[in-house]
Amino acid sequence: MREKILKLLKDYDYDEITIGTLGSHSALNILRGAKDEGFRTICVCRARERIIYESFGVADEIVEIADYPQLLDPKLQEKLRKKNVIMIPHGSFNAYIGKLDEIMIPLFGNRELMLWETDRVKQREWLERAGLKMPKRFERPEEIDRLVIVKYPGAMGGRGYFLAVSPEDFYEKAKRLVESGVISNKDIENAEIQEYVVGANVYFSFFYSPILNRVELIAIDRRYEPVDGLGRIPADVQLNAGIHPTYTVIGNFPVVLRESLLAKVLKVGKSVVEVSKEIAPPGMVGPFCVEAVFDDNAEMFVFEISARIVAGTNVGIPNSPYSYIIWGENMFMGRRIAREIRMGIEKGKLEELIY
Ligand code: AMP
Repeated sequence: MREKILKLLKDYDYDEITIGTLGSHSALNILRGAKDEGFRTICVCRARERIIYESFGVADEIVEIADYPQLLDPKLQEKLRKKNVIMIPHGSFNAYIGKLDEIMIPLFGNRELMLWETDRVKQREWLERAGLKMPKRFERPEEIDRLVIVKYPGAMGGRGYFLAVSPEDFYEKAKRLVESGVISNKDIENAEIQEYVVGANVYFSFFYSPILNRVELIAIDRRYEPVDGLGRIPADVQLNAGIHPTYTVIGNFPVVLRESLLAKVLKVGKSVVEVSKEIAPPGMVGPFCVEAVFDDNAEMFVFEISARIVAGTNVGIPNSPYSYIIWGENMFMGRRIAREIRMGIEKGKLEELIY
């Protein structure tokens, strides 16, 4: 597969590279960053989101599609290749297209690792091999003996997640969510049942640079979810109001971590990259995000990894404290990606960044 993509890249004019992405998720971040590094940009989006990419003026060209899977249309792919497009994948590629191996356009990053990300069993293998502490996983609902969170595969933005404390509680809530059409029975069958770690949620966005051979911490965020609104309602009202808040992501806040905790976090970033080289050579390229909860003892539990840019990095435009400290200039994930591509072109190493 990779050979095929690299063959397509061979026909590209490296002086005329265009950076493209799907209009969704972190496209503004990616396109702004590409422009800051002097690239032409292209945004492939649906009619309903066109207003976003027109309003912010970061796409030199907008290509409208009926829906995301249309990116798999060979004619559209050929049109994009003619414009020397390198696509930057983000969460919507996983969530709405899935068939990454049918995208016959050079992608920045490692497609195989993006597939590891969508499979929770593989994800756990990756994180455990990297020596990270993870919340306990329950194979079957019958095993639930503590507070758990129930989640589904893929980047669906937390839709339909729920908490349960026992098998009965699990089945009752699952039934209600299926009946109300939020999730399907199949979702429930494939659900991941994870110990709920009570603590501070923190998301770390890293960038692994094959060109500079280093891991950079680019930004830290936490999510803003409807469940966060619970704290505004007194407990007695909560008990009587029948409220069922969700984990659907609405936005993100920037976070700055206690400096002493960074030692742990930076080691996590490095070990995740080391293992990525073993499980999917040549390993990580570019952005990845480690999602963690810190408990009362500042113990770090990692509960997810994303092998691509996450929307949380949008809090770091034009820079986060961390990207600024590393670069001494405005730097954010979209720009960091474009900078790597620029360095790759200049050093004759672009192939190393593409899959
Ligand atoms: P995810 O889709 O895995 O990123 O999870 C969505 C949200 O659920 C996160 O932002 C957290 O608020 C919460 N969450 C997920 N897994 C856990 C866990 N094991 N312990 C505590 N909170 C979690």
